Amino acid sequence: MNYFELISIALAFILLLPFTLVPWMLKKKSYPIDYYHDQIRVLKGYSQINAFSVRGIRSHLILISESTLNLDYNELQAIIAHEEGHIKLNHHVKMTLVMGIPIYTSLLLIIKGEVFFAIPILLITLLAQKVISRRFELEADRYALKTTSRDELASVISRYGERRSSLISTHPDVSTRLKNIGYS
Ligand SMILES: [Zn+2]
Repeated sequence: MNYFELISIALAFILLLPFTLVPWMLKKKSYPIDYYHDQIRVLKGYSQINAFSVRGIRSHLILISESTLNLDYNELQAIIAHEEGHIKLNHHVKMTLVMGIPIYTSLLLIIKGEVFFAIPILLITLLAQKVISRRFELEADRYALKTTSRDELASVISRYGERRSSLISTHPDVSTRLKNIGYS
């Protein structure tokens, strides 16, 4: 097997982990809110208010921390609606594809001894990942408006969103997110 094949297989394996091993592990570390909604689960032993989603091969999981369960019911619905946005808009798959190609190219360059070219590609990829991530957050907020009220979503963003955002932030700041959903 040559380097080219070896890297292709290794990278395909690594890129598949968030869709296979990670959801499986998170399912083990969580319990469902109720048995009718097995895909919305509570992550054990995690105190901060937080929620995220993962995409499996056949299904998806929305995970919330235990303290998020204490929120007002409508706020919890708004948080879940935002995560459903990430899933329905295929953000997990899109991000993996966008990241996979430049990482693959960089690895090939490194193997060929062209580290000088690989490093800038990796740095740009890292920054691009943050830009795309912030864009996805805005898309998920807009999607959430389909199933949750603007007021509830705005309340959650205002209370738990990031006050400030920088080039390396994964989320836009609160005021950008509020403007995005037409709330100002
Ligand atoms: Zn999000």
